[in-house]
Amino acid sequence: MTIFQRIIDREISADVVFEDELSLAFRDISPQAPVHIVIIPKRAIPSLAESVDTDEQLLGHLLVVARKVAGQLQLNDGYRTVINCGRDGGQTVNHIHVHLLGGRQLVWPPG
Ligand code: AMP
Repeated sequence: MTIFQRIIDREISADVVFEDELSLAFRDISPQAPVHIVIIPKRAIPSLAESVDTDEQLLGHLLVVARKVAGQLQLNDGYRTVINCGRDGGQTVNHIHVHLLGGRQLVWPPG
């Protein structure tokens, strides 16, 4: 059971900014930018590497939600979406999620 599953189950609280039947978006507890949102599917997929072809619609949905949340939070000058995958990708929670970062100039490469 991951911490994100506990958030979906409302066992622990989160600052939710968007929710629909398939997904949940909430503020990251350790923000790396003025706006840092985590977008997760309610159906748990451990990582992008562990997703399957039939997850295509759900994976795409997460990006659509990212665009909606970016608009809702008025990230009019741009933003970044990130999916960390596995150890080398820096993934720490094994429930796939899209980071939405904005509100400052982001650097590249991200490190
Ligand atoms: P990642 O390192 O890509 O797996 O991202 C996991 C993210 O989840 C990190 O940015 C954490 O700060 C964030 N996080 C962990 N626990 C919580 C929580 N309880 N509420 C909100 N964000 C969390």
